[in-house]
Amino acid sequence: MALPVTDLRALVTALPGMDALLPALAELGEPSYLVGGAVRDVLRGARSVDLDVAVEGDGPAAARALAERLGGSVVLHDRFSTATVRAGSLAVDLAGTRREVYTRPGALPTVEPASLVEDLGRRDFTVNAMAIGLTGEALGRLRDPGGGRADLETGLIRTLHPASFLDDPTRLLRALRYESRLGFALERETARLAREAAEAGALSTVSGVRVRVELMDLLAEPEAPRSVTRLAELGLDHALHPAVDADPELVAAAKLGALETGASPALTALAALCAGRPEVRASARDELEVWVEALGLPGPARDAVLRAAAYANALAKALRASWRPSELHELLEGEPPEPLALALALGAPEEVVLLYTRRLRSVRLEISGADLLAAGVAESPAVGLALRETLRRKLDGELCGREEELRTALELAREAT
Ligand code: ATP
Repeated sequence: MALPVTDLRALVTALPGMDALLPALAELGEPSYLVGGAVRDVLRGARSVDLDVAVEGDGPAAARALAERLGGSVVLHDRFSTATVRAGSLAVDLAGTRREVYTRPGALPTVEPASLVEDLGRRDFTVNAMAIGLTGEALGRLRDPGGGRADLETGLIRTLHPASFLDDPTRLLRALRYESRLGFALERETARLAREAAEAGALSTVSGVRVRVELMDLLAEPEAPRSVTRLAELGLDHALHPAVDADPELVAAAKLGALETGASPALTALAALCAGRPEVRASARDELEVWVEALGLPGPARDAVLRAAAYANALAKALRASWRPSELHELLEGEPPEPLALALALGAPEEVVLLYTRRLRSVRLEISGADLLAAGVAESPAVGLALRETLRRKLDGELCGREEELRTALELAREAT
């Protein structure tokens, strides 16, 4: 629920960073506003927000002038004429107010300078389409042409116009992320439009990379399982890919498993969506793999997701057998943490997984090959084999301490040569 805001000016002025920012913006002489999610969060009672500022005027020129006044630096992100200004602990994202023109559904928009009202009108949802003045008489004044404040109070996520999801289908994923994070619901007509866009295949008009950015943000949220339920309710799971399995309980368990194993919660949750129901898995695995590849994750992250999706069920089953510590180490050594996290979610015994992640994973010998060579053993594959067998014995608790390690490894290496 939005807090009753009696004095928005006082709230905005008290935000961290505003003591330096407000006088510098006043000197620029251009009308400036706090915009987007920052306004939403201030109205919901946040006392500290990311400073997203829109200037009615030339954004990059304003950013350079602001950096100069604050004695800071500026980085321009040219595609949408946005900039980040940093000065000491202050970081401000700044852009000129602009309108967006979509040349075809799902494409990135063409951007042109425009008024504040048009800038607010290009945004995703009413609750993200408000501004608070930061300069002159407008300081602390709320601009809310879309009715975002009322939607904040009633807890609704509402698009600003009927073509919104078709223009930018990533908003479908954003909508569910905000629903879950804020504990809100899609407004009725917005929900209908979302279903319609999902059915019409809107998500297939967007690049895999843009889908991934929003999907990973959605999966990274603490309330991600609720979003996963909603993916299925709105038909967005199959709009992502027909073999995606939106199982909220598995996603919740996968995120817990990630915490226990040091895996990435969002990557493990993505793998959970792809691990699928057993009957779908075999036939659709190749297609799902192509879909995951198209998301454009960095190589190691992509490999961890694919490995987890393909292997976690078998791993969960394997881990139910009884293992000596050294065997467990051998089974899991070199495995990224995501398959292990998902295996845990799929029923691998917790004590076995924790034995590995908390203890065995970090066990190392105190000696190295150099110690064996220094003791007169000739360089040969026997050195590596002796070290490996010594590690095995250490893992199984058969020896302890540097001296015993060295004695054992030397014996083994000498026996073998
Ligand atoms: P968060 O708290 O998750 O960072 P945010 O609202 O700040 O939320 P950003 O993704 O940082 O979200 O985007 C900043 C603002 O830009 C949003 O509040 C919204 O007004 C606008 N925006 C971002 N993505 C879109 C989009 N796909 N379509 C329209 N407007 C968008």
